[in-house]
Amino acid sequence: MLNVETIRKDFPILSRKVNGKPLVYFDNAATSQKPRRVIDTIVDYYTNYNANIHRGVHALSQEATDKYEQARAKIQKHFNAQHRHEIIMTSGTTHGINLVAHGFASILKKDDEIIVSALEHHSNIVPWQMLCERTGARLRVIPMNQDGELVMTAFEALLSSKTKLVFVNHISNALGTINPIEDIIKKAHKVGAAVLVDGAQACPHLKPDVQQLDVDFYVASAHKMCGPTGVGMLYGKKAWLDKLPPYQGGGEMIAEVTFEKTTYADLPHKFEAGTPNICGGIAFGAAIDYLNHIGFDAIAAYENELLQYATKKLLAIDGLKIYGTSKHKTAVISFNLDGIHPYDVGTILDKMGVAVRTGHHCAQPIMDYFGIPGTVRASFAFYNTMAEIDTLVDGVKKAKAMLS
Ligand SMILES: *Cc1c(COP(=O)(O)O)cnc(C)c1O
Repeated sequence: MLNVETIRKDFPILSRKVNGKPLVYFDNAATSQKPRRVIDTIVDYYTNYNANIHRGVHALSQEATDKYEQARAKIQKHFNAQHRHEIIMTSGTTHGINLVAHGFASILKKDDEIIVSALEHHSNIVPWQMLCERTGARLRVIPMNQDGELVMTAFEALLSSKTKLVFVNHISNALGTINPIEDIIKKAHKVGAAVLVDGAQACPHLKPDVQQLDVDFYVASAHKMCGPTGVGMLYGKKAWLDKLPPYQGGGEMIAEVTFEKTTYADLPHKFEAGTPNICGGIAFGAAIDYLNHIGFDAIAAYENELLQYATKKLLAIDGLKIYGTSKHKTAVISFNLDGIHPYDVGTILDKMGVAVRTGHHCAQPIMDYFGIPGTVRASFAFYNTMAEIDTLVDGVKKAKAMLS
């Protein structure tokens, strides 16, 4: 059981006011808030041992290097990667996806196929379109149904010996649908395709086991997991990471440089050119410790209560429609009020101190499917309360009264 009142004390920002009202933060799918433990880790780094890593022989550099590599070990353990060097530190999910897409440019040939899903975030569509332009490969799309679920029979029909890559998110940021990635990975592997899972939206809510999933690549961002912005991780199976060429050239990623030829460093450094976000990486480790201290079983159970409660209360409002109605979903509610623009609802909620997102949520194809310009999206975290949901529901009722 999770004690939400105690947990809320860990997050300094949750006690502030917005527009004279207590903050109700329901934009967790965009970024999470940060606990004191993560903030303190950042302050401690710059106060006590800021130095560049991996290169210096001096004490501070050693200390920073040790802490940074300990963070990598925490990430490895958290995702249950077999080897530490299968964890590549990135600037976030988008960076991880682009790194893999860039690498596949040297592997794909004309008429090879890449399959993506209709539920993707723009950051998981655009890099593949660019890759297809460069290689002559073709992009195929797994369609979705009215509940916001992928149509698995259509996926099976798309698979063939031409399929080289499948890219799908673990959880949709716009609708909250949890995709059947185990099944997708198994089926893709049968035709010899690699699978990259975008875990940006899943990792705040569950703990993926990359070995059990047998996934080839898995990416995440620290900032959605109570960590800082500008840092994330790419897990890749060693065999794949060995096969892919480096993404960027620079310091740290080389073994030897002459003007004739450069040989690349071993994993993970081959993919880590330049000075990384040292402080961010260490704080990412602290965030993972914090989440595990709360416990993912407790987080999932509590967030599901929030979801059920909010769904019931919102659906009781006449003219309110929820988009994304899969039985397998996390605590994200995308909705609209009949005849009212989502932006107007969001503005009224903001006046009441309630932070939600409005718009297409970087997932325009999903909005096109439903024939809407966007939605209001309330996304919950384990530090939210039932009372906050009541405030949201009151706000939506008020918006409806004012706007209709
Ligand atoms: C947030 C998000 C991204 C992008 O993450 P960045 O941290 O902005 O790189 C990609 N995919 C999904 C599903 C997301 O929720």
